[in-house]
Amino acid sequence: MVVGECMIIDFHTHLGKPKKGVKKPEISSGVEDIIKIQKEANIDKSVIFAMPQEPFLEKNKEANMEVFTAMGPFIPFIWINPYFFDKKEVIDSIKRFNVRGVKLHSVFDGYYPSPKFLKDIIELSVKLNIPVLFHSLWGDLGDVKHIEKVAESFPRAKIVIAHLKESGCIDVAKKLDNVYIDTSYCPHPRGIEQAVKAIGAERILFGSDFPFNDPVVQKMMIERAKIKERDKQVILGGNAIKLLNL
Ligand SMILES: [Zn+2]
Repeated sequence: MVVGECMIIDFHTHLGKPKKGVKKPEISSGVEDIIKIQKEANIDKSVIFAMPQEPFLEKNKEANMEVFTAMGPFIPFIWINPYFFDKKEVIDSIKRFNVRGVKLHSVFDGYYPSPKFLKDIIELSVKLNIPVLFHSLWGDLGDVKHIEKVAESFPRAKIVIAHLKESGCIDVAKKLDNVYIDTSYCPHPRGIEQAVKAIGAERILFGSDFPFNDPVVQKMMIERAKIKERDKQVILGGNAIKLLNL
């Protein structure tokens, strides 16, 4: 960060080793790997959460603990598998480790993200005033139409849809102002321009999905977009600071 510039926050980073079932098992992302890429991409802080896990309670807990105790310029999120949701345990770890948000991955954990199924988790996020980051895409379980219903049913919840790869998330954010978009997988700066044109810059968050994507390249999508300089700054960090109450 250069003095006078906004802080740069990557809203989507995985920490740990991918588990069985992940397409690229050779990729891993330890604390050092994240710190190295932060320097290369000129990122000040990264929102971190676990790698996709095999669906076992202990694996889930272990992966979250690795995230909560990682030392570095990180903002930890808790990965909740709704099948294992234990309200008290989540509240305890959020307070103990200053967790700032929830990550949900309906495709890996195998569920339809419906308002009924996620009710307790979303209500808790509202109570604690923390955002919930939803994976999107990869088939029906990740279809944005489900996330839309959740966001619509809980208008006070702050819902972030990950992956600006297709325009579906923009359509949802256009309808509902409690919906934010993370820019990971945006294939061209035009995607950023389209999103800003449709919903303004305030609900767009720079995210890379490291280690699956290169943050240097993902950040460039925003830097190269033909949008106002001020819009670039809020997307790269200003919006995340507000949303996370940093
Ligand atoms: Zn991801």
